[in-house]
Amino acid sequence: MALKVIIDSGHGGSDPGASGNNIIEKSMTLDISKAMYDEFKKLGIPVYMTRDSDETLSPKERVDRVKKFVSSGDDVIVISNHINAGGGEGAEVIYALRNNEKLSQDILNELAGSGQKIRKYYQKRGTANPNLDYYYMLRDTTPYESVIVEYGFLDNTNDANKLKNNYKTYAKDVVDAVLKYKNIVPKEEYYTVKSGDTLYSIAKKFNLTVDKLKDLNNLSNSFLQVGKKLKVSGEKEDISESISNIYVVEPGDTLYGIAKKHSTTVDNLKALNNLDSNILTIGQKLVVPSKNVYVVKPGDTLYGIARMFNTTVNELMKLNNLTTNMLAVNQELLVP
Ligand SMILES: [Zn+2]
Repeated sequence: MALKVIIDSGHGGSDPGASGNNIIEKSMTLDISKAMYDEFKKLGIPVYMTRDSDETLSPKERVDRVKKFVSSGDDVIVISNHINAGGGEGAEVIYALRNNEKLSQDILNELAGSGQKIRKYYQKRGTANPNLDYYYMLRDTTPYESVIVEYGFLDNTNDANKLKNNYKTYAKDVVDAVLKYKNIVPKEEYYTVKSGDTLYSIAKKFNLTVDKLKDLNNLSNSFLQVGKKLKVSGEKEDISESISNIYVVEPGDTLYGIAKKHSTTVDNLKALNNLDSNILTIGQKLVVPSKNVYVVKPGDTLYGIARMFNTTVNELMKLNNLTTNMLAVNQELLVP
């Protein structure tokens, strides 16, 4: 069964959730969810979000969206992200009555490894009907494996500071827990050059020849820059299409501005250029996508792509003369 992960950012829009210590729950859950989404994407694991903007969702709409992403035969994990309030400290995971505690344990172990305090994992029964889950996000997403992750208490100063500094790490912790739980060993695709490395030593480490390593990374000489990410497996990325699409960073440029100018997203730009941070230097060369063409990645749906480009499924289908919703990986789509 193919694993599919659905990430739910708790609250949103007119429902801010809890707030305190300059944290609003709906924004923090969205930040965590986006970071988590990016991590799953990087691993090639099909992943969806119930919301990727500050949107009001009724319980029904939220659950409907979860179901919309699922096809028969999928092995589905639903991760609903929340921040606690009410005077405690540390992380908790609530899991559905139909599931066992293993995933919750793995999540808390990973969070503990990143320095977060751990409270407990537990199930909560409904008050009217104790045979049902108390929380609709667990109850109404049967039969999937669903967890609610509460990363900490925003009204606790320690937790609030940790959340602000470590939310991306915590998002990655949950991804690592899912990998562990599902026995998925991520393929090491990229290697970051460390001081003292040579092409020869890196090639040896990954069972490659120096020529293959150079070819994979389009290197014309043996000069290595510490911190550079090198591709160390798979096939050479086809940059023929984008080779003419090099953008040279000018004073005042931001990734956001450049992304907007080229009808893409900051995340897309960062992925294209193997960037770790948002910091740009003047004169830096960035690969930008050929304008208005989006290449379908594993796990993409028309709905997800439409949302990414602020358009509708219908509009996309019209633009591309599509007669079905079916997409093929690497298919090129015209986007507005
Ligand atoms: Zn909440």
